[in-house]
Amino acid sequence: MERLQKVIAQAGIASRRKAEDLIREGKVKVNGKVVTELGTKVSPNDRVEVNEIQIEREEPVYLLFYKPRGVISTVKDEKGRKAVTDFFPEIKERIFPVGRLDYDTSGLLLLTNDGDFANLLMHPRSEIEKVYVAKTEGIPQREDLRKLERGIKLEDGKTAPARVKLLSSERKKQTAIIEMSIHEGRNRQVRRMFDAIGYPVSKLKRERYAFLTLGNLRPGEMRELTPHEVKQLR
Ligand code: URA
Repeated sequence: MERLQKVIAQAGIASRRKAEDLIREGKVKVNGKVVTELGTKVSPNDRVEVNEIQIEREEPVYLLFYKPRGVISTVKDEKGRKAVTDFFPEIKERIFPVGRLDYDTSGLLLLTNDGDFANLLMHPRSEIEKVYVAKTEGIPQREDLRKLERGIKLEDGKTAPARVKLLSSERKKQTAIIEMSIHEGRNRQVRRMFDAIGYPVSKLKRERYAFLTLGNLRPGEMRELTPHEVKQLR
């Protein structure tokens, strides 16, 4: 048995708060009857309708995927490029990525069919730590890295402080490998931060998301999250 507002939020129709409003407003029916009581619990066999439309109830699925480069982080791509969900033809649930990684970025990406879980993790207030490893063109100096640590002015505002570590550099090739940890999740944020200090990123990988790492996975492989991991993330 699950609380009605959670079931609605999981279906991806509304946030939990919005789902509560829908219930209070009398827009939700369980087995054909309007329910306005917020504490109502429903079983998997109960038929739930929101605004007269029956919601799809699936078993929640939580996957940790090692996204390869050259794959788009959406469910489908109009241009016919390979999408993350194309890797799982056997999964019948309607999974989607939690946030996104750029087409050219590899690394850890969560996928789920639980809209409530995805909303929670993507909310700016959740401030989940993400750790990236970037290869740069040119070797940033200590003071360049300090700028990243302090926060960089981008066109959508100053970034929050980041943790930055030079892992290695190759003087002959003029490249460096740098680890950067951020809590925000703006579009192309890592690439834009390095662009802003004049050291473009040629390769980017997300190594960690909260406490989750890629472990032994290889690009294109996935594993299910354990119930304990799901609970810790919530
Ligand atoms: N920052 C980027 O620039 N790209 C990503 O894919 C993720 C974070």
